[in-house]
Amino acid sequence: MSVETQKETLGFQTEVKQLLHLMIHSLYSNKEIFLRELISNASDAVDKLRFEALSKPELLEGGAELKIRVSFDKDAQTVTLEDNGIGMSREDVITHLGTIAKSGTADFMKNLTGDQKKDSHLIGQFGVGFYSAFIVADQVEVFSRRAGLPASEGVHWSSKGEGEFEVATVEKADRGTRIVLHLKKAEDEFADGYRLRNIIKKYSDHIALPIELPKEQIAVEGEPAPVQEWETVNRASALWTRPRTEVKDEEYQEFYKHIAHDFENPLAWSHNKVEGKLEYNSLLYVPARAPFDLYQREAPRGLKLYVQRVFVMDQAESFLPLYLRFIKGVVDSNDLSLNVSREILQKDPIIDSMKSALTKRVLDMLEKLAKNQPEEYKGFWKNFGQVMKEGPAEDFANKEKIAGLLRFASTSDESGEQSVSLAEYLARGKEGQDKIYYLTGESYAQVKNSPHLEVFRKKGIEVLLLTDRIDEWLMSYLSDFDGKGFVDVARGDLDLGKLDSEEDKKAQEEVAKDKEGLIERLKAALGDAVSEVRVSHRLTDSPAILAIGEQDLGLQMRQILEASGQKVPDSKPIFEFNPTHPLIGKLDNEQSEERFGELSHILFDQAALAAGDSLKDPAAYVRRLNKLLVELSV
Ligand code: ADP
Ligand code: MG
Repeated sequence: MSVETQKETLGFQTEVKQLLHLMIHSLYSNKEIFLRELISNASDAVDKLRFEALSKPELLEGGAELKIRVSFDKDAQTVTLEDNGIGMSREDVITHLGTIAKSGTADFMKNLTGDQKKDSHLIGQFGVGFYSAFIVADQVEVFSRRAGLPASEGVHWSSKGEGEFEVATVEKADRGTRIVLHLKKAEDEFADGYRLRNIIKKYSDHIALPIELPKEQIAVEGEPAPVQEWETVNRASALWTRPRTEVKDEEYQEFYKHIAHDFENPLAWSHNKVEGKLEYNSLLYVPARAPFDLYQREAPRGLKLYVQRVFVMDQAESFLPLYLRFIKGVVDSNDLSLNVSREILQKDPIIDSMKSALTKRVLDMLEKLAKNQPEEYKGFWKNFGQVMKEGPAEDFANKEKIAGLLRFASTSDESGEQSVSLAEYLARGKEGQDKIYYLTGESYAQVKNSPHLEVFRKKGIEVLLLTDRIDEWLMSYLSDFDGKGFVDVARGDLDLGKLDSEEDKKAQEEVAKDKEGLIERLKAALGDAVSEVRVSHRLTDSPAILAIGEQDLGLQMRQILEASGQKVPDSKPIFEFNPTHPLIGKLDNEQSEERFGELSHILFDQAALAAGDSLKDPAAYVRRLNKLLVELSV
């Protein structure tokens, strides 16, 4: 036992304590994954060493044969993992094995319900990592030394996983990390060569460096114990360099879990080898679930970058646009230099052409998923639809392709789910329909009963219902799809084109002429509140409606801008009334200008309410309405 100095006891960060508790109590059914996590870390550590050694070969300290060794001791009930990767300094150990660095961790922890089934899903989005060792061990010891530091600066970390850990400085001859798991009584089955070999084959076959187990050797009586020999149990070649036909689905899935730090299988993947002017391999995955930090600005994103098989950086963001930030995967380039930096990546023209090719691959993969596995695509859309909606604004070149992947709620689907594609919408459109009609609003419940839909209901024309906060903004980037223009049914002077017959149109014109007197009276009564008054063709049941001017901001955009503290240009709505409605008939016949004014304002306010807007002077509305009610009940 070497001498320990500078021994101290430290507490885990609160989030770590919560995570440990959760892990021990909700992942009991899949205990063996601890080995996958620890091997994954060892492999990352070796990748980092290999990369740093490119510029500082002395870090290899003469030992360039990089590997992971897993051993066990049945009597002592321990499992030990050893790697000769980058290792950790004392500070590294304290931060990496005492805190969780991910942004938004505290928020994530707040979402935990205490329901173990639900929480084990959440933890999947979070990634379990090193702390999973405590699923099977009641004490974990880590011996580590950062490559490049002297042997006297090794560190010994030890914890029972309960709230605190100890660190001390120790001698450690070899660089890298050794982890000793003292198995819980009930988990001693893991101190077994056959079991360990199976787990490694199952979860870690794709790891690109050798994972070795001790070779079974028979001691012969009277002879000295043989020197321990080791054998490699995994395939130990970079998975993405192998031909597609030789890689099994399970291997793709396990590799995904390793690089994405995810717990669940991916929804889809796309593995490609590109040759020619540029040469690279790519392996891209669509996760099944959104990570908890999808909307956090600083959240990690991007691909793992390798250059000629050597790991160069994590989270290389330059290879995919922001709206595809949820995609995980690997690119391995033959053209980039090994000392490429993030700054260089941002400027390199090679990256631009890789980025557009990879973007196209992802969109193709999603198209295929939508076509061949519509149920899975629904799940994808639930998780990532909002992010995909950022696409048309960011990626002009692929606008049409992205539009094809969008899904909307619609008047033809009672469920309210976002499940209708634009292609589907057009395919079942009315004879002569050359527009895509949509309505935006606060919520599905609000828009589905909007008076703006009345004429569409009557004529049996489908309208897409857009209620995500981002939708109005999205639609400002989409002008048409498949040659058909988009029309906001709450905007401008609704022209149904060929969907209105010539007779309809003539009749409308006549009514408008007939109501000129009423229009003038309403203009005078409503004054500044409106930009225009006209006869509506949109209504069958409601007396009046407010339309948005062709160039004006819609309600959603106005609310977003207001919430962000920006000054919003004042725009006035167009007041449209339904000439066949009895209330309008009454209004037309009203002799008292005072009562006419009161009633017009009530109709105006009602129309604003039905559109989901708030009233400028709610008290005045209530006063007017009550006055009217009193008169009625006399
Ligand atoms: P993640 O792998 O997602 O970063 P983990 O909980 O698995 O999270 O590991 C936490 C950190 O501890 C790692 O990021 C790494 O910095 C450090 N670490 C864990 N195992 C090793 C190891 N074998 N060698 C060097 N560093 C390690
Ligand atoms: Mg890890």
